[in-house]
Amino acid sequence: MIETDILIIGAGPTGLFTVFEAGLLKLKCHLIDSLPQAGGQCSEIYPKKPIYDIPAYPEILAGDLTDKLMEQIEPFKPGFTLGESAVTIDKQEDGSFIVTTNRGTKHKAPIVAIAGGLGVFEPRKPPIENLSEFEDKGVEYIIKDPEFYRGKDVVISGGGDSALDWAYFLANGVAKNVALVHRRNSFRGHLDSVQKVMDMAENGKLNLITEAEVVGVSGNGVLNEVLVKHKTQGEIKMATNHWVPLFGLSPKLGPIADWGLNISKNSIEVDTFDYSTNIDGIYAIGDVNTYPGKLKLILCGFHEATLMVQSAFAKIHPDKKNVLKYTTVNGVNGF
Ligand SMILES: Cc1cc2nc3c(=O)[nH]c(=O)nc-3n(C[C@H](O)[C@H](O)[C@H](O)COP(=O)(O)OP(=O)(O)OC[C@H]3O[C@@H](n4cnc5c(N)ncnc54)[C@H](O)[C@@H]3O)c2cc1C
Repeated sequence: MIETDILIIGAGPTGLFTVFEAGLLKLKCHLIDSLPQAGGQCSEIYPKKPIYDIPAYPEILAGDLTDKLMEQIEPFKPGFTLGESAVTIDKQEDGSFIVTTNRGTKHKAPIVAIAGGLGVFEPRKPPIENLSEFEDKGVEYIIKDPEFYRGKDVVISGGGDSALDWAYFLANGVAKNVALVHRRNSFRGHLDSVQKVMDMAENGKLNLITEAEVVGVSGNGVLNEVLVKHKTQGEIKMATNHWVPLFGLSPKLGPIADWGLNISKNSIEVDTFDYSTNIDGIYAIGDVNTYPGKLKLILCGFHEATLMVQSAFAKIHPDKKNVLKYTTVNGVNGF
Protein backbone atom coordinates (compact mmCIF):
# COMPACT_ATOMS: atom_id res chain seq x y z
CA MET A 1 0.00 0.00 0.00
CA ILE A 2 1.44 3.34 -1.08
CA GLU A 3 0.51 6.07 1.42
CA THR A 4 0.68 9.80 0.80
CA ASP A 5 -1.00 13.11 1.71
CA ILE A 6 -2.37 13.97 -1.73
CA LEU A 7 -2.90 11.27 -4.31
CA ILE A 8 -2.89 12.88 -7.75
CA ILE A 9 -4.54 11.04 -10.61
CA GLY A 10 -2.91 12.29 -13.80
CA ALA A 11 0.71 13.40 -14.24
CA GLY A 12 0.00 16.10 -16.82
CA PRO A 13 1.18 19.68 -16.25
CA THR A 14 -1.59 20.29 -13.69
CA GLY A 15 -0.80 17.17 -11.67
CA LEU A 16 2.93 17.92 -11.74
CA PHE A 17 2.55 21.52 -10.59
CA THR A 18 0.28 20.35 -7.76
CA VAL A 19 3.32 18.57 -6.31
CA PHE A 20 5.19 21.87 -6.16
CA GLU A 21 2.40 23.84 -4.50
CA ALA A 22 1.71 20.98 -2.08
CA GLY A 23 5.44 20.73 -1.32
CA LEU A 24 5.48 24.35 -0.21
CA LEU A 25 2.92 23.33 2.42
CA LYS A 26 4.94 20.24 3.37
CA LEU A 27 2.34 17.91 1.89
CA LYS A 28 3.62 14.76 0.18
CA CYS A 29 2.25 13.71 -3.21
CA HIS A 30 2.07 10.54 -5.27
CA LEU A 31 0.96 10.53 -8.92
CA ILE A 32 -0.74 7.81 -10.96
CA ASP A 33 -0.82 7.95 -14.76
CA SER A 34 -1.96 5.47 -17.40
CA LEU A 35 0.79 6.68 -19.69
CA PRO A 36 4.32 5.40 -19.24
CA GLN A 37 5.70 8.93 -18.86
CA ALA A 38 4.76 12.17 -17.12
CA GLY A 39 3.56 15.24 -19.01
CA GLY A 40 0.00 14.34 -20.06
CA GLN A 41 -1.06 15.81 -23.39
CA CYS A 42 2.19 17.81 -23.58
CA SER A 43 4.36 14.72 -23.80
CA GLU A 44 1.91 12.32 -25.43
CA ILE A 45 0.34 14.48 -28.13
CA TYR A 46 2.58 17.44 -28.90
CA PRO A 47 6.00 17.23 -27.21
CA LYS A 48 7.78 19.05 -30.04
CA LYS A 49 5.24 21.84 -30.49
CA PRO A 50 6.05 25.25 -29.08
CA ILE A 51 3.67 26.75 -26.51
CA TYR A 52 3.50 30.53 -26.37
CA ASP A 53 1.22 31.24 -23.41
CA ILE A 54 3.20 30.00 -20.41
CA PRO A 55 4.03 33.08 -18.31
CA ALA A 56 7.68 34.15 -18.58
CA TYR A 57 8.37 31.68 -21.41
CA PRO A 58 7.79 33.53 -24.69
CA GLU A 59 8.17 30.11 -26.33
CA ILE A 60 8.72 26.66 -24.89
CA LEU A 61 8.36 23.19 -26.40
CA ALA A 62 5.67 21.15 -24.65
CA GLY A 63 8.23 18.42 -23.92
CA ASP A 64 10.62 20.97 -22.41
CA LEU A 65 7.82 22.34 -20.23
CA THR A 66 7.35 18.83 -18.83
CA ASP A 67 11.10 18.54 -18.16
CA LYS A 68 11.08 21.92 -16.39
CA LEU A 69 8.09 20.91 -14.24
CA MET A 70 9.84 17.66 -13.30
CA GLU A 71 12.93 19.67 -12.33
CA GLN A 72 10.82 22.10 -10.31
CA ILE A 73 9.12 19.36 -8.27
CA GLU A 74 12.25 17.25 -7.78
CA PRO A 75 13.05 18.74 -4.32
CA PHE A 76 9.71 17.42 -3.05
CA LYS A 77 10.42 13.83 -4.14
CA PRO A 78 6.97 12.80 -5.40
CA GLY A 79 6.17 9.12 -5.96
CA PHE A 80 4.95 7.83 -9.33
CA THR A 81 2.84 4.89 -10.41
CA LEU A 82 3.18 5.11 -14.20
CA GLY A 83 1.62 2.96 -16.92
CA GLU A 84 -1.34 2.11 -14.66
CA SER A 85 -4.88 3.49 -14.64
CA ALA A 86 -6.76 4.42 -11.48
CA VAL A 87 -9.82 2.21 -11.66
CA THR A 88 -11.60 2.12 -8.30
CA ILE A 89 -11.89 4.36 -5.28
CA ASP A 90 -13.08 3.27 -1.83
CA LYS A 91 -13.77 5.61 1.03
CA GLN A 92 -12.49 4.33 4.37
CA GLU A 93 -14.09 4.80 7.78
CA ASP A 94 -11.42 7.33 8.74
CA GLY A 95 -12.41 9.46 5.71
CA SER A 96 -9.36 8.53 3.64
CA PHE A 97 -9.50 6.90 0.21
CA ILE A 98 -7.97 3.78 -1.30
CA VAL A 99 -7.44 4.03 -5.04
CA THR A 100 -6.63 0.82 -6.90
CA THR A 101 -5.17 0.62 -10.40
CA ASN A 102 -5.87 -1.84 -13.19
CA ARG A 103 -2.74 -3.72 -12.08
CA GLY A 104 -3.92 -3.91 -8.49
CA THR A 105 -1.55 -1.29 -7.02
CA LYS A 106 -3.21 0.28 -3.98
CA HIS A 107 -2.76 3.86 -2.84
CA LYS A 108 -4.10 5.41 0.36
CA ALA A 109 -4.53 9.15 0.96
CA PRO A 110 -6.80 11.54 2.84
CA ILE A 111 -7.03 13.72 -0.28
CA VAL A 112 -7.47 12.71 -3.91
CA ALA A 113 -6.81 15.29 -6.62
CA ILE A 114 -8.12 14.23 -10.00
CA ALA A 115 -5.99 15.89 -12.69
CA GLY A 116 -7.04 13.43 -15.36
CA GLY A 117 -7.25 15.92 -18.25
CA LEU A 118 -9.06 14.40 -21.15
CA GLY A 119 -9.16 11.12 -19.30
CA VAL A 120 -7.79 7.95 -20.73
CA PHE A 121 -7.72 9.21 -24.28
CA GLU A 122 -8.31 7.30 -27.48
CA PRO A 123 -7.71 8.64 -30.97
CA ARG A 124 -10.76 8.96 -33.23
CA LYS A 125 -10.21 6.27 -35.84
CA PRO A 126 -11.46 6.35 -39.41
CA PRO A 127 -13.92 3.57 -40.28
CA ILE A 128 -11.61 1.36 -42.34
CA GLU A 129 -12.14 -2.34 -41.84
CA ASN A 130 -8.55 -3.62 -41.82
CA LEU A 131 -7.08 -0.52 -40.14
CA SER A 132 -5.99 -2.32 -36.97
CA GLU A 133 -3.67 -4.58 -39.03
CA PHE A 134 -1.51 -1.55 -39.80
CA GLU A 135 -1.60 0.28 -36.47
CA ASP A 136 2.01 1.03 -35.51
CA LYS A 137 3.01 -0.61 -38.80
CA GLY A 138 2.57 2.57 -40.79
CA VAL A 139 -0.67 3.95 -39.37
CA GLU A 140 0.15 6.36 -36.54
CA TYR A 141 -2.46 8.39 -34.69
CA ILE A 142 -0.03 10.61 -32.81
CA ILE A 143 3.20 12.25 -33.93
CA LYS A 144 5.48 11.86 -30.94
CA ASP A 145 8.76 12.71 -32.60
CA PRO A 146 8.84 14.40 -36.01
CA GLU A 147 12.38 13.10 -36.54
CA PHE A 148 10.81 9.67 -37.07
CA TYR A 149 9.52 11.00 -40.41
CA ARG A 150 12.80 12.51 -41.59
CA GLY A 151 13.34 11.78 -45.29
CA LYS A 152 10.14 9.73 -45.54
CA ASP A 153 6.89 10.01 -47.50
CA VAL A 154 3.98 10.84 -45.21
CA VAL A 155 0.25 11.17 -45.80
CA ILE A 156 -1.61 13.18 -43.13
CA SER A 157 -5.41 13.33 -42.88
CA GLY A 158 -7.51 15.87 -41.03
CA GLY A 159 -8.68 19.46 -41.14
CA GLY A 160 -7.92 20.74 -37.63
CA ASP A 161 -4.88 22.40 -36.08
CA SER A 162 -2.98 19.18 -35.46
CA ALA A 163 -3.19 18.08 -39.10
CA LEU A 164 -2.34 21.57 -40.41
CA ASP A 165 0.51 22.22 -38.00
CA TRP A 166 2.15 18.83 -38.50
CA ALA A 167 1.75 18.96 -42.28
CA TYR A 168 3.44 22.37 -42.26
CA PHE A 169 6.17 21.26 -39.86
CA LEU A 170 7.02 18.01 -41.66
CA ALA A 171 6.92 19.61 -45.11
CA ASN A 172 9.38 22.23 -43.89
CA GLY A 173 12.51 20.18 -44.50
CA VAL A 174 11.77 17.15 -42.32
CA ALA A 175 9.87 14.59 -44.43
CA LYS A 176 10.71 13.93 -48.08
CA ASN A 177 7.12 14.32 -49.29
CA VAL A 178 4.03 15.33 -47.39
CA ALA A 179 0.45 14.99 -48.61
CA LEU A 180 -2.42 16.48 -46.60
CA VAL A 181 -5.77 14.88 -47.36
CA HIS A 182 -8.92 16.61 -46.12
CA ARG A 183 -12.50 15.86 -46.99
CA ARG A 184 -13.62 19.49 -47.25
CA ASN A 185 -12.34 22.59 -49.00
CA SER A 186 -12.29 24.58 -45.77
CA PHE A 187 -10.30 23.85 -42.59
CA ARG A 188 -11.22 24.04 -38.92
CA GLY A 189 -7.77 25.24 -37.80
CA HIS A 190 -6.46 28.71 -37.05
CA LEU A 191 -6.47 31.04 -40.07
CA ASP A 192 -2.73 31.51 -39.75
CA SER A 193 -2.08 27.74 -39.89
CA VAL A 194 -4.43 27.36 -42.87
CA GLN A 195 -2.63 30.17 -44.71
CA LYS A 196 0.81 28.64 -44.08
CA VAL A 197 -0.32 25.29 -45.49
CA MET A 198 -1.97 26.93 -48.50
CA ASP A 199 1.23 28.87 -49.24
CA MET A 200 3.30 25.70 -49.03
CA ALA A 201 0.94 23.90 -51.38
CA GLU A 202 1.13 26.76 -53.83
CA ASN A 203 4.94 26.63 -53.74
CA GLY A 204 4.85 22.91 -54.48
CA LYS A 205 6.31 21.95 -51.07
CA LEU A 206 3.21 20.07 -49.94
CA ASN A 207 0.62 18.03 -51.79
CA LEU A 208 -2.76 19.35 -50.63
CA ILE A 209 -5.68 17.09 -51.61
CA THR A 210 -9.04 18.48 -50.53
CA GLU A 211 -12.54 17.06 -51.01
CA ALA A 212 -10.98 13.65 -50.57
CA GLU A 213 -10.54 11.03 -47.89
CA VAL A 214 -8.45 7.94 -47.30
CA VAL A 215 -10.82 4.98 -47.61
CA GLY A 216 -8.43 2.05 -47.75
CA VAL A 217 -5.05 0.84 -46.48
CA SER A 218 -2.98 -2.03 -47.83
CA GLY A 219 0.45 -3.58 -47.55
CA ASN A 220 2.35 -6.70 -46.83
CA GLY A 221 2.82 -6.73 -43.06
CA VAL A 222 3.52 -2.98 -43.11
CA LEU A 223 1.64 -0.16 -44.80
CA ASN A 224 2.57 0.30 -48.47
CA GLU A 225 -0.36 2.15 -49.94
CA VAL A 226 -3.41 4.24 -49.07
CA LEU A 227 -6.47 4.51 -51.26
CA VAL A 228 -7.83 8.05 -51.54
CA LYS A 229 -11.36 8.71 -52.75
CA HIS A 230 -11.65 12.12 -54.40
CA LYS A 231 -15.02 13.83 -54.90
CA THR A 232 -14.50 14.45 -58.62
CA GLN A 233 -11.37 12.48 -59.59
CA GLY A 234 -12.50 9.14 -58.14
CA GLU A 235 -10.02 6.74 -56.53
CA ILE A 236 -6.32 7.59 -56.29
CA LYS A 237 -3.72 5.08 -55.06
CA MET A 238 -0.87 6.65 -53.11
CA ALA A 239 2.28 4.72 -52.22
CA THR A 240 3.37 5.52 -48.67
CA ASN A 241 4.69 3.78 -45.58
CA HIS A 242 3.15 6.33 -43.22
CA TRP A 243 -0.40 7.49 -42.85
CA VAL A 244 -1.20 9.75 -39.92
CA PRO A 245 -4.96 10.26 -39.48
CA LEU A 246 -5.29 13.24 -37.11
CA PHE A 247 -9.01 13.32 -36.42
CA GLY A 248 -8.65 14.33 -32.79
CA LEU A 249 -8.98 12.46 -29.55
CA SER A 250 -12.16 11.10 -28.19
CA PRO A 251 -12.10 12.16 -24.55
CA LYS A 252 -13.23 9.41 -22.23
CA LEU A 253 -13.26 9.98 -18.52
CA GLY A 254 -12.94 6.25 -18.20
CA PRO A 255 -13.39 4.61 -14.79
CA ILE A 256 -13.51 7.98 -12.99
CA ALA A 257 -16.97 8.54 -14.51
CA ASP A 258 -18.30 5.81 -12.19
CA TRP A 259 -16.96 7.26 -8.94
CA GLY A 260 -20.20 9.05 -8.02
CA LEU A 261 -18.92 12.49 -8.98
CA ASN A 262 -21.17 15.10 -10.56
CA ILE A 263 -20.30 14.99 -14.24
CA SER A 264 -21.36 17.40 -16.93
CA LYS A 265 -20.25 17.18 -20.57
CA ASN A 266 -17.63 14.54 -19.76
CA SER A 267 -16.04 16.79 -17.11
CA ILE A 268 -16.21 16.90 -13.32
CA GLU A 269 -18.21 19.73 -11.78
CA VAL A 270 -16.32 21.70 -9.13
CA ASP A 271 -16.75 24.57 -6.71
CA THR A 272 -14.38 27.32 -7.88
CA PHE A 273 -13.66 28.29 -4.26
CA ASP A 274 -11.23 25.37 -3.96
CA TYR A 275 -11.99 23.05 -6.93
CA SER A 276 -13.64 20.53 -4.65
CA THR A 277 -16.12 18.04 -6.09
CA ASN A 278 -19.40 16.81 -4.62
CA ILE A 279 -17.43 14.17 -2.67
CA ASP A 280 -15.67 15.54 0.40
CA GLY A 281 -11.90 15.04 0.04
CA ILE A 282 -11.90 14.64 -3.75
CA TYR A 283 -10.85 17.60 -5.90
CA ALA A 284 -10.73 17.98 -9.69
CA ILE A 285 -8.25 20.33 -11.35
CA GLY A 286 -7.04 21.12 -14.87
CA ASP A 287 -8.72 20.03 -18.08
CA VAL A 288 -10.80 17.39 -16.28
CA ASN A 289 -13.06 19.86 -14.46
CA THR A 290 -15.81 22.21 -15.52
CA TYR A 291 -17.33 25.39 -14.10
CA PRO A 292 -18.78 28.55 -15.60
CA GLY A 293 -16.06 30.30 -17.58
CA LYS A 294 -13.69 27.30 -17.61
CA LEU A 295 -10.78 27.49 -20.04
CA LYS A 296 -8.82 24.34 -20.80
CA LEU A 297 -5.39 25.91 -20.60
CA ILE A 298 -2.22 24.89 -18.77
CA LEU A 299 -2.11 28.26 -17.02
CA CYS A 300 -5.60 27.70 -15.56
CA GLY A 301 -4.62 24.23 -14.31
CA PHE A 302 -1.67 25.78 -12.44
CA HIS A 303 -3.96 28.31 -10.76
CA GLU A 304 -6.51 25.67 -9.80
CA ALA A 305 -3.79 23.43 -8.32
CA THR A 306 -2.52 26.33 -6.20
CA LEU A 307 -5.92 27.05 -4.65
CA MET A 308 -6.77 23.37 -4.26
CA VAL A 309 -3.75 22.54 -2.09
CA GLN A 310 -4.67 25.33 0.35
CA SER A 311 -8.00 23.63 0.92
CA ALA A 312 -6.33 20.20 1.14
CA PHE A 313 -3.96 21.54 3.80
CA ALA A 314 -6.88 22.78 5.91
CA LYS A 315 -8.52 19.33 5.69
CA ILE A 316 -5.36 17.41 6.55
CA HIS A 317 -4.33 19.82 9.34
CA PRO A 318 -7.55 21.36 10.70
CA ASP A 319 -5.67 22.51 13.79
CA LYS A 320 -2.84 24.29 11.94
CA LYS A 321 -2.96 27.82 10.56
CA ASN A 322 -1.48 28.23 7.11
CA VAL A 323 0.10 31.62 6.40
CA LEU A 324 0.93 32.40 2.78
CA LYS A 325 4.67 32.76 2.35
CA TYR A 326 6.56 33.91 -0.72
CA THR A 327 9.13 31.55 -2.21
CA THR A 328 11.45 34.55 -2.52
CA VAL A 329 11.52 34.82 1.27
CA ASN A 330 11.90 31.16 2.23
CA GLY A 331 13.32 29.53 -0.92
CA VAL A 332 12.01 26.12 -1.87
CA ASN A 333 13.78 24.18 0.84
CA GLY A 334 12.78 26.63 3.54
CA PHE A 335 9.15 25.57 3.49
C1 LIG B 1 -2.21 19.96 -29.84
C2 LIG B 1 -2.47 20.69 -28.56
C3 LIG B 1 -1.92 21.96 -28.37
C4 LIG B 1 -2.15 22.64 -27.18
N1 LIG B 1 -1.60 23.88 -27.02
C5 LIG B 1 -1.77 24.54 -25.83
C6 LIG B 1 -1.19 25.83 -25.63
O1 LIG B 1 -0.54 26.39 -26.51
N2 LIG B 1 -1.39 26.42 -24.41
C7 LIG B 1 -2.10 25.84 -23.40
O2 LIG B 1 -2.22 26.42 -22.32
N3 LIG B 1 -2.69 24.63 -23.59
C8 LIG B 1 -2.53 23.97 -24.77
N4 LIG B 1 -3.14 22.75 -24.95
C9 LIG B 1 -3.98 22.21 -23.86
C10 LIG B 1 -3.10 21.66 -22.73
O3 LIG B 1 -2.24 20.66 -23.22
C11 LIG B 1 -3.99 21.15 -21.63
O4 LIG B 1 -4.75 22.23 -21.10
C12 LIG B 1 -3.16 20.52 -20.52
O5 LIG B 1 -2.41 19.43 -20.98
C13 LIG B 1 -4.06 20.06 -19.38
O6 LIG B 1 -3.26 19.53 -18.40
P1 LIG B 1 -3.83 18.48 -17.36
O7 LIG B 1 -2.66 18.12 -16.51
O8 LIG B 1 -5.04 19.04 -16.71
O9 LIG B 1 -4.32 17.23 -18.24
P2 LIG B 1 -3.53 16.30 -19.28
O10 LIG B 1 -2.37 16.97 -19.86
O11 LIG B 1 -4.59 15.80 -20.19
O12 LIG B 1 -3.01 15.10 -18.37
C14 LIG B 1 -3.92 14.23 -17.76
C15 LIG B 1 -3.25 12.91 -17.48
O13 LIG B 1 -4.16 12.11 -16.71
C16 LIG B 1 -4.00 10.77 -17.10
N5 LIG B 1 -5.20 10.01 -16.69
C17 LIG B 1 -6.49 10.26 -17.01
N6 LIG B 1 -7.32 9.37 -16.42
C18 LIG B 1 -6.51 8.54 -15.71
C19 LIG B 1 -6.75 7.42 -14.87
N7 LIG B 1 -8.00 6.95 -14.64
N8 LIG B 1 -5.69 6.79 -14.31
C20 LIG B 1 -4.42 7.23 -14.52
N9 LIG B 1 -4.14 8.29 -15.30
C21 LIG B 1 -5.17 8.94 -15.87
C22 LIG B 1 -3.79 10.83 -18.61
O14 LIG B 1 -3.10 9.69 -19.07
C23 LIG B 1 -2.95 12.11 -18.73
O15 LIG B 1 -1.56 11.83 -18.77
C24 LIG B 1 -2.94 22.06 -26.15
C25 LIG B 1 -3.49 20.79 -26.34
C26 LIG B 1 -3.26 20.10 -27.53
C27 LIG B 1 -3.87 18.75 -27.70
